[in-house]
Amino acid sequence: MKVHIHTFGCQMNVNDSEIMLGLLSTQGYIPVDNPADADIVILNTCAVRQKAEDKFYGKLGELNRLRKAGKKLIIGVAGCIAEKVGRKLLEREDVQFVLGTRAIGRICDVVGRAVSGEKVACFDDTLSQISAEVPKLRQSKHHAWVTIIYGCDKFCSYCIVPYTRGREKSRPLDDVLQEVKDLSRRGYREITFLGQNVDSYGKDLGDDTSLAKLLSLANEVEGLERIWFLTSYPSDFSSQLIETIATSEKVARSIHLPVQSGSDRILKAMNRRYTREEYLQLIWQIREQVGDVSISTDVIVGFPGETEEDFVQTFKLLEKVRFERVNLAMYSPREGTVAWKHFEDDVPKDVKNARLQALLELQKRINAEINRTYLGKVVRIIGEGKLDERRYYGRTEKNKIVIFCSEENPTGRLVDVKIEKTTAGPLYGKPVWIEPSKN
Ligand code: SF4
Repeated sequence: MKVHIHTFGCQMNVNDSEIMLGLLSTQGYIPVDNPADADIVILNTCAVRQKAEDKFYGKLGELNRLRKAGKKLIIGVAGCIAEKVGRKLLEREDVQFVLGTRAIGRICDVVGRAVSGEKVACFDDTLSQISAEVPKLRQSKHHAWVTIIYGCDKFCSYCIVPYTRGREKSRPLDDVLQEVKDLSRRGYREITFLGQNVDSYGKDLGDDTSLAKLLSLANEVEGLERIWFLTSYPSDFSSQLIETIATSEKVARSIHLPVQSGSDRILKAMNRRYTREEYLQLIWQIREQVGDVSISTDVIVGFPGETEEDFVQTFKLLEKVRFERVNLAMYSPREGTVAWKHFEDDVPKDVKNARLQALLELQKRINAEINRTYLGKVVRIIGEGKLDERRYYGRTEKNKIVIFCSEENPTGRLVDVKIEKTTAGPLYGKPVWIEPSKN
């Protein structure tokens, strides 16, 4: 039978989908890109914002239109909405199975039962079975997502993740390293270590495992060019980790460190476990020890009780730090969280919108200024893919997208590009050297 997985949300979901497809492939299921060609469609969902949930219900509507047109389709729901709504989803006529975030190891059994007509809900914890040995059908042949820690213990007051993904659970260091070595043997040049709270990695294992230790061991793996990690929590970002990044040449000079707000009052209400000053100290320490490093962040505007003064604190923090990328979001209450239970969503929509626009404008200006410093420089990228007939793109170790023309396909190869044009977004240039193809 043919199976299609539609993935919403974060890279951890992308990696979960790769695992589910890998497992299903071993049982003879054939992955297809188009749901119209599939017998089984799995929606691997995200619940982090209302918008993501709306997209899921929209997709279900699309699949139902296919069914109404006569297509026979088994629909299953995995990911955070499956966990949040639970077996209640089975009350819908269109949903045949529900799979919890920790139950992905049971995918073959659940799909098999759904195919034979059963309505199935499975929330078993199979995470300890998700090892280097488990087959994965990866989207890319050059870059691999490697989840190293599941769940989150932080309980930020606005966030649904600890409820949908459960407590932190790290994979054993040896198992992760085995996966990294296998990937490098198979020609992968880049890996990204993933976790909702990646710098917490190892704390639950009760030995000396840490993200710093993993990065320094992965740095020794031959064949790998770049190692990324996502997403870090400021108060877990240790001095040892900073030192490791500074001394490990393969670790990308790109750190994503969500600040969420520049106001201490709001940080406290969000249950973020650091102050504005502690966050700034961390940034200066990273810049001092690692040197030329790109730091990006996430910000939420319009959190309950956010005054103009709180917002100005956030604005000033962005001006001061000059991040290389900022993911901006308007606060939206998530049912079941502390903020949803105890705080009124009292910042009017137009005020949230105006604050979002102000930060967008500021960040656009900062991005354009930073990018202008690249004019005339030669940067090294790893080719990631094709934009059209002749244009390709890749990423620098500071996570800058570079677009260039090439007669040959440089995907998966190192390319030195001379930057000829900059914008607030991508950089544009001409290749001056392309690594010879190994084929
Ligand atoms: S650190 Fe906070 S925002 Fe991030 S996943 Fe955990 S609870 Fe959510």
